[in-house]
Amino acid sequence: MKPTNIKDLQSQSRNLTVRRVDRDTFVVESLSNPRGNHIVTVRFGDANTVYARCTCPWAKNHGVACSHVIAALEYLAGLKGRRLSFWLTQEDANRQKHRTFYLAGGRNRQEGVWITSRTG
Ligand SMILES: [Zn+2]
Repeated sequence: MKPTNIKDLQSQSRNLTVRRVDRDTFVVESLSNPRGNHIVTVRFGDANTVYARCTCPWAKNHGVACSHVIAALEYLAGLKGRRLSFWLTQEDANRQKHRTFYLAGGRNRQEGVWITSRTG
């Protein structure tokens, strides 16, 4: 399940505090609960594919690209001086002419979202 408002999610994610716990694990604050955190794990697979899990209700209901996952991926990109943009279709991503990743969302390739990475 893809978010429909991915640009809104990306701007929300910029306000979230991310703490890296180990190489693949992040604690990201919850927007809906000021006393809550979510745990995000990230794994990089073949062919620029990214697999991410989160403890939030959206992710538990098979949603892809929640604001917490976006925040964790932005954090990782930031370490390399890069910024990310998120796209609902491969065509939109390809139009950017930047390095492209696929954030897997299920068994078939229509269920995930596309990420482009640029410097600065
Ligand atoms: Zn989440």
